[in-house]
Amino acid sequence: MDSSRLDALDRRIAGCRACPRLVAWREEVARTKRAAFADWTYWGRPVPGYGPPDARLLIVGLAPAAHGGNRTGRMFTGDRSGDVLYRALYDLGLASQPTSVSADDGLELYGVRVTSPVHCAPPANRPTPVERDTCRPWLVRELRLLRPTLRAAVVLGAFGWQAALPAFAEAGWTVPRPRPAFAHGTRVSLDGLDLFGCFHVSQRNTFTGRLTPEMLREVLRTAADAAGLPGRK
Ligand code: SF4
Repeated sequence: MDSSRLDALDRRIAGCRACPRLVAWREEVARTKRAAFADWTYWGRPVPGYGPPDARLLIVGLAPAAHGGNRTGRMFTGDRSGDVLYRALYDLGLASQPTSVSADDGLELYGVRVTSPVHCAPPANRPTPVERDTCRPWLVRELRLLRPTLRAAVVLGAFGWQAALPAFAEAGWTVPRPRPAFAHGTRVSLDGLDLFGCFHVSQRNTFTGRLTPEMLREVLRTAADAAGLPGRK
């Protein structure tokens, strides 16, 4: 796929102001900052997806973290969720480095793109259903652009699952009815794409051991296989 179309979409997303509550929150967080990041100029805008335009595997999260993506401007970058996710991608040979700390740290993803159904950081990490639905057209457009090469997707958590299934349907894939329920490790075949459920890489899940690094690697490894990505076994 011509990368300029995805770049153009990413730029349009970064300028979106459709959700008043989220615009106010992301900008307030960017102004007030967390003490540890007082020296940072926060991004404070919607965070577009990250990864190559010919990705074969898509990872779908929930929304950027207030002091993670909303600070650095890149998905899962600068927070603990990202530490866990990118470590796993690196272990599997799908990322150039195990850490993701800033937009200019040189991280490259191999055949993988990371995105979310809501592009602005929400208060308490909880977008409303209206905000989720307002943001969905961005995901639909991204999916349409990725469709020629996309062969698998890993959706992190039940919220992302509920948001992603209608987006995949709108982007042209056949999603079974009734819609399959979210579960960790679940695998659903859409026409030409395998969709996997995985617990979210949130601190709550990783600190409590609900999601261990091995559980995450296992889902990502299976999805990478389904996507035809070589990686490291
Ligand atoms: S959440 Fe999505 S639709 Fe709402 S303002 Fe952010 S980018 Fe726009």
